[in-house]
Amino acid sequence: MSQIRRSQFITTYGPGAILEGKNGPRIIPSVQLSQVYAGRKVLDFEITDQRLPRNILGGAGILRLPSNAEVREPEIKEIYKTKRFPAWSLCTRHHILYRKYQNDNQACPKCPPLPNPSAAWNRASQQAIRFVRACPSGHLDDVEWVKIIHHKQPHCNPDYLNWQGSGALRNIDIECPHCLASINLGLAYSRDWPCSGRFPELEDPTTNLQQHENCSEKARILQRGAANLRICEVQTALTIPKCDTNLHNLLSTSSILARLHPLPTSKSDFLDGLQFLEKQGLLTHTMLEQISGYSETEILGACADIVQAKIPKNAYEMRQDEFHALKDAATHGHPPVKPNRPGDPPLFEILRTIDLCVAKRTHSKSRWVWRTKAMSKSASCPAAWIESVTA
Ligand SMILES: [Zn+2]
Ligand SMILES: [Zn+2]
Ligand SMILES: [Zn+2]
Repeated sequence: MSQIRRSQFITTYGPGAILEGKNGPRIIPSVQLSQVYAGRKVLDFEITDQRLPRNILGGAGILRLPSNAEVREPEIKEIYKTKRFPAWSLCTRHHILYRKYQNDNQACPKCPPLPNPSAAWNRASQQAIRFVRACPSGHLDDVEWVKIIHHKQPHCNPDYLNWQGSGALRNIDIECPHCLASINLGLAYSRDWPCSGRFPELEDPTTNLQQHENCSEKARILQRGAANLRICEVQTALTIPKCDTNLHNLLSTSSILARLHPLPTSKSDFLDGLQFLEKQGLLTHTMLEQISGYSETEILGACADIVQAKIPKNAYEMRQDEFHALKDAATHGHPPVKPNRPGDPPLFEILRTIDLCVAKRTHSKSRWVWRTKAMSKSASCPAAWIESVTA
């Protein structure tokens, strides 16, 4: 088990990445196979955003991962299931390349048996081979170590192979213990191999079933820790006016969003509908209470903003909208965004304050002060306010 921060999941350790755990490497499966939301309501982890999902994410929603603390599990409890990968192992004592299949006490076929099957699986995982096979279409699999050797006998299918030599790859030969045919690892590393079309991240981590599809790409042997083995694609979006308040956020929850056509005409009718959603478990009581705290004008206004919001058709349009929103805020300021809890500082605000020193010199100059949630603790100290832009 390894502890990773949720932000690392976006970049380094997302689905398809190989995590180097205490007991050997593990593949990180897709969120839906990870059981991270098992026994929990997925909707409680929804990140509401209208602009990104519709066209750019092809209609997919956005979720955040729960932390152990949030779901009241101890820090050492595994809440995101992973799967051991690669399956082949190398015993450096006996120079044996082997694959463990049986749930017995044996790891390396020449090492003495271990006390129990779990210890044997751990040993095999800790000895995991550092080479894997990948293709440009994103498939990833074990190297077919037995098949890359041109055997001298038909139907030669040994349980293990001999790993001969050490150091540079060209100094290593992999030999079949039955027919004594071998292949040089340096040569195997430098040439193309057929792709098995496997997506280990789409496999249920609780079974041994594999997921394959047809692939005509050529695969290469790579080190499992290579930086070019997996490159993530990150999509980012800023929440921009008018849909940037806490109320807009609440009303953009997918269960509520579906009820905004036609637009509600009164707060009481709208809340009746939301109570129905709460009874169905599609809305939490806290969310309902938060929404009820807003006035009819605020609620009806926000519903209209959400329905009429401009949805960007592509990433370029999205960036343009964000740029104009930032420019607009820098020119005209931005009113405080209500905090989630009463009494907390605003979530976001751009204040226009006259800087007296600057104003003395030239009355035409004024200063914009950006205050963000991160800075709110020191908001009473103007010197700690970040960034100022002269208008
Ligand atoms: Zn051994
Ligand atoms: Zn052979
Ligand atoms: Zn492929």
